[in-house]
Amino acid sequence: MKRMRLEDILINNVWDVDYEPHIVVDSEKCVECDTKPCINLCPAGCFTLLGDKIVFSYEGCLECGTCRVICPRGAVSWNYPVSGKGIHYRFG
Ligand code: SF4
Ligand code: SF4
Repeated sequence: MKRMRLEDILINNVWDVDYEPHIVVDSEKCVECDTKPCINLCPAGCFTLLGDKIVFSYEGCLECGTCRVICPRGAVSWNYPVSGKGIHYRFG
């Protein structure tokens, strides 16, 4: 069986991005986080390092919940987007 690339899977989705972020990151807690696993484990690449600061962008979030589970500092306040917002199946 051929392994699908993430890009090929995501092409079936569309985003209706809310103005209000459904995930909020406490960047003060990120300063003390040595390993910063969110950078490598968020499948959507929502966490990036700019200098020594974490920059979080919620717009492309896949709502997988990984950042909530793996954050060792409890810096991620996580909610689903309000109804009708966020990621949707393109043909559904
Ligand atoms: S894992 Fe949590 S505390 Fe560490 S950098 Fe990411 S969001 Fe911040
Ligand atoms: S819920 Fe998943 S896709 Fe969204 S920011 Fe967290 S790890 Fe990334």
